[in-house]
Amino acid sequence: MSSIAATLQQVGGRIAAACEAAGRPVQSVTLMAVSKTQPAQALREAFLAGQRHFGENYVQEALAKQEALRELRADMVWHLIGPLQANKTRAVAQAFDWVHSVERLKVAERLSAQRPPGMPPLNLCLQINVSGEASKSGVAPQDALALAQGVVRLPGVRLRGLMSIPEPTRDVALQRSRHRALASLKDQVQQALGAPLDTLSMGMSDDLEAALAEGSTMVRVGTAIFGARQP
Ligand SMILES: *Cc1c(COP(=O)(O)O)cnc(C)c1O
Repeated sequence: MSSIAATLQQVGGRIAAACEAAGRPVQSVTLMAVSKTQPAQALREAFLAGQRHFGENYVQEALAKQEALRELRADMVWHLIGPLQANKTRAVAQAFDWVHSVERLKVAERLSAQRPPGMPPLNLCLQINVSGEASKSGVAPQDALALAQGVVRLPGVRLRGLMSIPEPTRDVALQRSRHRALASLKDQVQQALGAPLDTLSMGMSDDLEAALAEGSTMVRVGTAIFGARQP
């Protein structure tokens, strides 16, 4: 077994245990392999071990890997999870299946307008700043509903849910409270919209158990699958 197949199996075991503890079906969770800074060969190994969802932070880097892996493209699901500037939206609308880092209506409008006809709507999550750190990306929780109301009207995109990157901490109670805040905000937003949101994108290598206990439907795991990133 390749080492990536082995670490994927370990992460799958952590997800299964956390789902069991929370009384949730394991099928309610999607594992995204976060492959930023990793070579295309590492994604290929993960793919051969059965992994299908991949998350990247940088548009150019992701496009180069998609080119290197083009024969696998039809069976891969590509997620952009890093900050997205308005001048990169066209490439993203053409090449990705999901964007998790939407924090401005203008960016969502461009993605919608630039999504090629014939492709399914681009799946979007709104990134929420649940820790309230001034330096962090994401919209403030109190601004999430207004942004969601703008995004749901756009024809080329489909609003799927909310995403967060809380401050790193070993304090499990704090991890849980940040994840609980995102889950309850998702409930409030979907109720106000009158439309269901099916995605809570939260939990990474060090806090996926806390995230799954609070209802995460998609965990974004890099280091625990691929090892430490090259700087
Ligand atoms: C890098 C990154 C991850 C993965 O983090 P790990 O701690 O390596 O699992 C998840 N989400 C986002 C947005 C990231 O940038």
